[in-house]
Amino acid sequence: MVKQDSKNGNSVFVCEACGFAYREQAWAEKCQAWCAKHKSCNVLITRHAVQ
Ligand SMILES: [Zn+2]
Repeated sequence: MVKQDSKNGNSVFVCEACGFAYREQAWAEKCQAWCAKHKSCNVLITRHAVQ
């Protein structure tokens, strides 16, 4: 499960595997699924992360 959090007043979804935060839940879920399976990050996914 991705974790819902807030950053600077915006709600974000956090991948619990790597800690990257996303504005869209769909990206956080993709990241989480990738991280759990590959034990690494996919730059095509993490580029969508909130800085
Ligand atoms: Zn991740």
